[in-house]
Amino acid sequence: MKSYLALPLALMLGCSSVKNETTAQTDHKLLKDVEILSSDAYEGRKTGTKGAEMSRAYLSKRFEEIGLKPISVLGGYEQLFSFNNSAGEKVYGKNMLAYIPGKSEEIIVISAHYDHIGIINNEVYNGADDNASGVAGLLKIAAHFKKQQPNHSIIIAAFDAEEMGLRGSKAFIADPAVPLTKIRLNINMDMISHNDKNELYACGTFKNPGLKKYFIFNNNRIKVLFGHDDPATGHEDWTNQSDQGSFNAVNIPFIYFGVEDHKDYHKATDEYKNINETFFNDAVSAILQVASNIDKERDIQQIFREKLQMKKQ
Ligand SMILES: [Zn+2]
Repeated sequence: MKSYLALPLALMLGCSSVKNETTAQTDHKLLKDVEILSSDAYEGRKTGTKGAEMSRAYLSKRFEEIGLKPISVLGGYEQLFSFNNSAGEKVYGKNMLAYIPGKSEEIIVISAHYDHIGIINNEVYNGADDNASGVAGLLKIAAHFKKQQPNHSIIIAAFDAEEMGLRGSKAFIADPAVPLTKIRLNINMDMISHNDKNELYACGTFKNPGLKKYFIFNNNRIKVLFGHDDPATGHEDWTNQSDQGSFNAVNIPFIYFGVEDHKDYHKATDEYKNINETFFNDAVSAILQVASNIDKERDIQQIFREKLQMKKQ
């Protein structure tokens, strides 16, 4: 179901932002990352399993290839945490974190969870869309900002244990490797590769409408829609349905990118062959452009002050 708030951005922004017909070129590395992480060998990447360990080895290799540095106080990419699962057992998880120094110390956290739900009744739940796609997008965005130094410092966060209740992002917020007061925004990706209507949602502008003006990208094939973020819509509000919820809980503004649930959602058929390659490619390209537009904003807090002014009027 779609939120009544959703409007195609092309309509909201007028023609000028979409006059460019360019569409993103296919990025084979992006697709390869999804294909590998969602292959049967990774056993559905459930927290605490061999598949999760393999995912971290893969992420570690990719972080190094890109040239990402750890957050200095952690001394490595891994952030260990533990929690009790619904059966009361202690479970260990590990976030994979990296830091890209910007020109300022103000931080944007860009995130995607790498865990999924593992093997159920001897079937591997590969989680290609949920959320190998977000992790692959995260790696592409990391490579971009590594090459072109951002204005803001950026934390690249591949969270663990999202599927067990946003545990990795909650641990990141509870035991922050950087002062939370420096974090200005979270951009989270969870399920960005599978939609038959070319629709990607961007949630978070209900609370912070000032963010809308940064949604300019040179691709008129993908439709990025606002919505799924009005608390009055109950379960249709996705604010707490992925890791952005942990940031929102401490009043850090967020943008969450994701698609509507689809026929393969949380099924063994969420496989690489069922993602929409062109849509995925376009989605990551649009997200990267929005992130880059926001990064260019010198005073990011001003975006959120605008909201306060709008309220006063
Ligand atoms: Zn997910």
